[in-house]
Amino acid sequence: MAGVTITMIVIFVVAAAIPVMIGIYVYRDASARGMNAVLWTLVAVLAPSLIGFIIYLLIRGNYSNLRCPVCDARVREDYVVCPGCGTKLRPSCPGCSAPVELGWKVCPRCAAPLPEYQDDIKTPVKKKDRTLAVVLGAVVLIPLAIILLATVTFTMGSTMSSGSVLMPVDDYVQETGNTQIEEMIREKNPDLDEAVVLMYETESGDETETQYLIYTPLLSEDSDYSVNSGDGLFRDSVSIDIEEESGGGNALLYISCTSDKTLDLELTCEGSDISYEIEKADDPLY
Ligand SMILES: [Zn+2]
Ligand SMILES: [Zn+2]
Repeated sequence: MAGVTITMIVIFVVAAAIPVMIGIYVYRDASARGMNAVLWTLVAVLAPSLIGFIIYLLIRGNYSNLRCPVCDARVREDYVVCPGCGTKLRPSCPGCSAPVELGWKVCPRCAAPLPEYQDDIKTPVKKKDRTLAVVLGAVVLIPLAIILLATVTFTMGSTMSSGSVLMPVDDYVQETGNTQIEEMIREKNPDLDEAVVLMYETESGDETETQYLIYTPLLSEDSDYSVNSGDGLFRDSVSIDIEEESGGGNALLYISCTSDKTLDLELTCEGSDISYEIEKADDPLY
């Protein structure tokens, strides 16, 4: 069925893109925090179900995530000035520029006396870290989105039209003189969960009319069935669900659909698949 194929492609692309994006993010983030970037990237990408990534996000809170209050560049705790804009971030020795603490009287590195005050200092700000919340949200939302996408694909309103008729095999043969389906039934002799289908296509403009003639022993002249058409991106589908019937077994279901895409036929009996063999007819079926 077309919807399934597209949904599978989308899931595959997302599944392939997520580890790559996580890897790039973790590598850059861990490098900026002075963590072991290669190790954490491997952990985040290789551990299943995002567990490595979640552990990384929990652990990294212990490593500084400081920003320059002026230009928002990433800075580390031991930076004296911001590498982005030169703003003074912490007290430093006027002699050797080594970082010093407030209250120190002498620089521990070069022994120069330190001034009492350094008043042009702008302390780095700690960015609020929402990544963990975002990731945990995504772990819940991505599967939901996939389910939603699948549902939409299956139930999207269709632009194609279809009409259907149920009739005894004999009536059809008498009326049309077409014996191909009779021969097919005799040759394949389908079981209760099997069907034979004859198909005929006519193209007009960019639309194709597809006729199906379906035989399964499940069908009798007064069987109940429902026809659903699905509109996919690249392919349309028509699904026929037949209600379980004990007797009967001598009726044909004729269906005509018009679509501008390739059409897939799906046969089910109260939800369970009916396998079918399909042949192309040489002449219109009805
Ligand atoms: Zn700055
Ligand atoms: Zn110094």
